[in-house]
Formats: sequence, structure tokens, C-alpha cells
Amino acid sequence: MTNVEKINSLNIKYINNLFIGVMNRDSLKQDYLKALKDLIDFNNITLEVAKAIGMKKWDDDSDIYLFPYYLYTIIPIGLKVTSIFDEELVWTDHMDDDTRFGCLAFGLKIKEENNMEEELKPCPFCKNKSPRVIRYGIESGIINQVHCDICGASGPDHADSKEKAINAWNRREK
Ligand SMILES: [Zn+2]
Repeated sequence: MTNVEKINSLNIKYINNLFIGVMNRDSLKQDYLKALKDLIDFNNITLEVAKAIGMKKWDDDSDIYLFPYYLYTIIPIGLKVTSIFDEELVWTDHMDDDTRFGCLAFGLKIKEENNMEEELKPCPFCKNKSPRVIRYGIESGIINQVHCDICGASGPDHADSKEKAINAWNRREK
């Protein structure tokens, strides 16, 4: 059996229920976690493993997959994780355990190989060939914007997805 098959045989849905308090059986929880800890290579989580252990994509445009809450105690201290604000952090034993849709506010960036997106065109002002998409949170949600590090051009102002930001930038005239 591959690790993913072993993980699947542990019945993640059941584990999740244990941890969100639907069931309360502490010794079972510990047994499951111990078994899982041996099966997950946290430094090398593939998309297949991420899905098997119930990691969820933060949003459609990001490649951040969030850890489900039940993993909180077995995420290795020192692991490099990414927050929902796209900050890179090192996991400690006192991370925030807030959840959203059953997941922690931290996860890993996992590349999906066959998800090609439109390439960014050079900056129309200074011809910089490598502008980049930046994302930041405001009260009403996440804003995606293309930014040129050379001349400081940026835009559009209100794209709610990376794809929209790229499309708008690529159609931009001076
Ligand atoms: Zn520029």
C-alpha cells in the first residue's frame, strides 16, 4: 500500500468528526494521530497526500492548501508554512488555532502542475519583463494586483482573482 492508500484507510472524515467535537474519544484521537504522523512527510506533501489528509485550498487563485484543524498537534515544529495572508512562517507550538471551514489559517503552497495561467505581459511603462501579482487582504476580501518593481506601476484596483488581475494588466494601455 502507498502512504496515500494507508491514509485513506484511516478514514479522515471520521477523524475530523472526532476533532470537531462530534465525538469525544481522546485515546482514539491519539492513536489516529500517531498513525498519521508516521505516514505524512510534512516536508514533501504532494497534492495527492494533501487531498487525502483533508487539506483544503484557501481560494481558487492561490496554491495554498490549508491544514485541517485535527493536524494541529502533529505539524512538526520548525516546518515552514504559509499563512492565508501569504506570509511564510515557521511552525511553533503556540500558533493561532483559529479555524475557517474546518481548517487552520496556515498551510503549504502546493503546485498543481497542469494549471497553466496566462503569462503576464511586460510593464507598458518601463518594459520590465517580470512584473508580479501581489495579493493583500482588505476588510471586504482579497485584492489581486499586478505590480512592477522597477517603475512602481500597479493595477487594476479591484480584482478579486489572480486571473482577473492578469487579464486586466495584459489588456492595459499606458
Ligand atoms: Zn514598470
